[in-house]
Amino acid sequence: MTALLKVEGLVKRFPVKGGLFGRVVDHVHAVDGVSFDLAAGETLGLVGESGCGKSTTGRCILRLIEPTSGQVWFDGQEVTALDKPALRGMARQMQIIFQDPYASLNPRMTVAAIVGEALTIHKLAANAQAARDRIVELLETVGLSAAQMQRYPHEFSGGQRQRIGIARALAVSPRLIVCDEAVSALDVSIQAQVINLLEDLQARFGLTYIFIAHDLSVVEHTSTRVAVMYLGRIVEIAPAKALYTQPRHPYTEALLSAVPIPDPRLKRKRIMLQGDVPNPIHPPSGCHFHTRCAIAEKGRCDVVAPVLKPVASGHLVACHLRS
Ligand code: SF4
Repeated sequence: MTALLKVEGLVKRFPVKGGLFGRVVDHVHAVDGVSFDLAAGETLGLVGESGCGKSTTGRCILRLIEPTSGQVWFDGQEVTALDKPALRGMARQMQIIFQDPYASLNPRMTVAAIVGEALTIHKLAANAQAARDRIVELLETVGLSAAQMQRYPHEFSGGQRQRIGIARALAVSPRLIVCDEAVSALDVSIQAQVINLLEDLQARFGLTYIFIAHDLSVVEHTSTRVAVMYLGRIVEIAPAKALYTQPRHPYTEALLSAVPIPDPRLKRKRIMLQGDVPNPIHPPSGCHFHTRCAIAEKGRCDVVAPVLKPVASGHLVACHLRS
């Protein structure tokens, strides 16, 4: 596999300020050594509970947030070493779609202005007519029409607003799109429509996706591979089919047990996780999951952090007892 994207040892710590003088008193360990490769045309599902670091990982890859350490390569170029002008050029190739399209769309701009903004910034249209034609083309590509160009975001439904966000991302002809909880705020039927659109666009333009979601059911049918994150670390990464049929990490098993099975004759035993996700300012020692793991071994799991090890072809698991 030739990697289009390579992430190596990505770390992001957010300072926590406190006291009278607002000094840095601690750090949130948001991303704690994340590594993976992604081939062109693949979709990686990045899944975990809220606060596990999946969105921060996506934003660090695009350098919307500066990583604390680690490297990101895109098409052989080290993104993490680029200066600001070079990074602006790279931004054309890597785009992001956000969870809340309403919050990410300027309410005072028309749809034409929102979708056309990137064309102006990156000088992608020779003149006003060429820009207009391209905006119409983009809107039609995502299932909207030229008649809606002069409308404002509040005049659209949630699903349509997400289509505007997709058209805006497509304007610069990117190769990689990070879909950050892109369908999480939508009703299930609208979710399916937007996922279908994203799949069609992938087939048409050869796009590569990182599909971030808190729910394993959302990424099941869209992902080539799935990575499960817990407290800043990838605990399991595998081809989608293997992860759904033969999960190896106890955390993945618990997440999967909550996914409904469409066939009512089949039953899955629900694994209830005890307690909440621990505070990422002071994550548990050793395996971060040991405070909630039913099979944790005292003196081992709480002391030594397990590393990702292969258990089958392309299937890696970070667990002392399941490798
Ligand atoms: Fe559970 Fe230990 Fe495996 Fe962590 S390393 S998932 S605590 S068994």
